[in-house]
Amino acid sequence: MTLVPLPAFADNYIWMLHDGSSAIVVDPGDAQPVFDALAHHKLQLAAILVTHHHADHTGGVAALHAATGAPVHGPARERIPEPFTPYVQGDIAEALGLSFEVIDVPGHTAGHIAYFLPAAESRAPLLFCGDTLFSGGCGRLFEGTPAQMLASLDALAALPGDTRVCCAHEYTLANLRFARAVEPGNADLTHYNARCESLRAQGQPTLPSQLATERLINPFLRSREATVLRAVREHAELSADAAEADVFAALRQWKNDFR
Ligand SMILES: [Zn+2]
Repeated sequence: MTLVPLPAFADNYIWMLHDGSSAIVVDPGDAQPVFDALAHHKLQLAAILVTHHHADHTGGVAALHAATGAPVHGPARERIPEPFTPYVQGDIAEALGLSFEVIDVPGHTAGHIAYFLPAAESRAPLLFCGDTLFSGGCGRLFEGTPAQMLASLDALAALPGDTRVCCAHEYTLANLRFARAVEPGNADLTHYNARCESLRAQGQPTLPSQLATERLINPFLRSREATVLRAVREHAELSADAAEADVFAALRQWKNDFR
């Protein structure tokens, strides 16, 4: 299996996974990069996976489905282009001979789902998480609550450490600038930032990231760590008995306002 990030728009990635003859794509906001990649690698499109309803994740679905007949898998609780097979937590989406486990991850949107592919013999686990978890950051809360997003990120953070995290945007360097403001003394973060800066300087994606790395550097997976907690308290007014979701909300707000 080969994993390829197809750049789309300014900073989206449409993830393609293929076996040399058939491919699946995740969140095709634009059909053209997918058509180009299918032609370039001489692949048939076997399925389209969608994580949430936003146009930059679904804009190419109808054209790809019409041209290839590839079945569409998507979130049961969101409106995406019909027809599609709807999924909720615990369902299995079968495609390319693989079984993708569906995880409900509300927060960025209300019905957002993620797809987890467990490890196989020669392949690390893969996570397609849309706009929920980014490298060094997380999605904005457009429809969900901080408590929902925190629970969603907890569910993703509990996956195996060698999971390759296939996020839908190249936001890493901007996220890491904020992460370093939160945890200036985090040596793992400093090293990771240097690696990502070097990758971007060479025009390379910073993704996929590794979940074990995210646990060490991503402030939104670390909102219970003493260093992060202290930084949030210094930045925002929080009562002594503030709940975990309140800390997370203050951290997310800090990021929203961060320049
Ligand atoms: Zn989105």
